[in-house]
Amino acid sequence: MEVVNDNGCSWINDLISRKNIKILSSNMDSEWLIVGAGFTGLSAARKLSQIFPNQKIILVDAQLAGEGASSRNSGYLVDTTLNDGFTSNKELENYKKKTDIYELGIEAIKRFIKEYQVDCDWNESGKYFASSKYKDKKILENFSNTLSKLGFEHNLISKDELKKKLGTKFYNIALYTKGGILLHPGKLVRAMIDTLSDNVQLFENSPLLEWKKEKDKIICYFKNGTIKTKKIIFATNGFLKSLGIKKNYNFPITLTASMTRTLTDEEYNSIGKPKEWGVLPVRPMGATIRMTKDKRILIRNTAEVFNPFKMSKLELDKRVIKQKIGIKKRFPQLPDDIIQSSWSGIVSRSRNSSQIFEKIEPNIFVAGCYNGSGIGVGTLFGEQIAIKASNEHSEEIQIIEKRSKPTWLPPQPFLNFGIKTRLIYERIRARSEI
Ligand SMILES: Cc1cc2nc3c(=O)[nH]c(=O)nc-3n(C[C@H](O)[C@H](O)[C@H](O)COP(=O)(O)OP(=O)(O)OC[C@H]3O[C@@H](n4cnc5c(N)ncnc54)[C@H](O)[C@@H]3O)c2cc1C
Repeated sequence: MEVVNDNGCSWINDLISRKNIKILSSNMDSEWLIVGAGFTGLSAARKLSQIFPNQKIILVDAQLAGEGASSRNSGYLVDTTLNDGFTSNKELENYKKKTDIYELGIEAIKRFIKEYQVDCDWNESGKYFASSKYKDKKILENFSNTLSKLGFEHNLISKDELKKKLGTKFYNIALYTKGGILLHPGKLVRAMIDTLSDNVQLFENSPLLEWKKEKDKIICYFKNGTIKTKKIIFATNGFLKSLGIKKNYNFPITLTASMTRTLTDEEYNSIGKPKEWGVLPVRPMGATIRMTKDKRILIRNTAEVFNPFKMSKLELDKRVIKQKIGIKKRFPQLPDDIIQSSWSGIVSRSRNSSQIFEKIEPNIFVAGCYNGSGIGVGTLFGEQIAIKASNEHSEEIQIIEKRSKPTWLPPQPFLNFGIKTRLIYERIRARSEI
């Protein structure tokens, strides 16, 4: 099915439009086909082209490469998370497995930007897990314990200090972690597209409609052509389920976000001229909010079960009202009409917050399902699934595969009923933080 996106994402609109977009319009044969050109698919293509410089690699995307969630996110490259979806991190051993993967994800991105000299507004600013509720101190203290045991540098921050750092009186308590990077996701993913090597053929606006396995080939059908491939990697993340991949183990969630215009000097002074910062919520459904390097404010405060293929302007506008309120609550001194752009994006979730990294059948591979941490983990998983699909081994694969796999999900309509009920419950718990 066609993916129809809004054109409101500031991260995308900051960049010059790409030329030379190729649509698949003939029948082709290839050694490799990668479906989905976000962080995962682009990284898989990059790695495969390094391993097999003489083989033909085709990369397809239903929309413009990189313009799905990979550009539409909040730009936190995380080393730690407090809430991974709705699951808190109770068990130390599991939490460590997760952060080991985050660390490898950060290293994968660092390697990429060093090798290709990428400017993506990289800022090792750390991040805040903040709440307006004093009673969330308990959650932060427990989290602090976990972080201490694993050696993550962090500290609890008081209201006064927070006000100085963030320019808002809204938050009463926070835990700051030194690790974690803020970046411009649009610039990062664009660099991954621009640096694809010559043996990768990219076809965009070319959704895979159907696929089947026939003897030693996989046959993939598009609107105006067919690709017969020896090996395939599915990297469609929130759209895995719609292609029938691991469909009882992951589900899409739609998020919406808005970004203000650049604050004027006067507005910026009125909030105390804070340096770039990023806040993540203490409660799962609270707002992610960020001050960018160029003095814009980003807010993401919705997460819901919605049609992943399209959100109409009317539906998006309804969510923007929540984002206006979210900004106003935190920065009452700023004007009402300050939001410049709004957009939706799709993430993939599993029941137990584990990611998908698998050979599902001979010659068929899949990587995805990162919830809100796919910048680093998607890049890592893309590279490593390419290594796995090439029958090679790596230490990273061992670390990735140590984590438990996603657990089984009930069929519809029970699944959507369960997710919606959970989201409503979490939304009520976090209502002051939206
Ligand atoms: C609002 C928002 C905020 C987020 N914040 C953060 C954050 O701060 N930090 C972080 O790490 N992560 C964040 N995420 C999550 C992160 O963006 C994703 O985990 C990451 O982009 C996943 O990359 P991907 O390449 O696997 O998937 P995607 O970027 O979703 O790419 C998948 C691609 O597959 C394509 N596709 C789908 N179906 C087909 C088909 N049938 N045929 C061909 N192509 C197809 C899509 O068009 C898409 O381009 C956020 C996401 C959203 C939406």
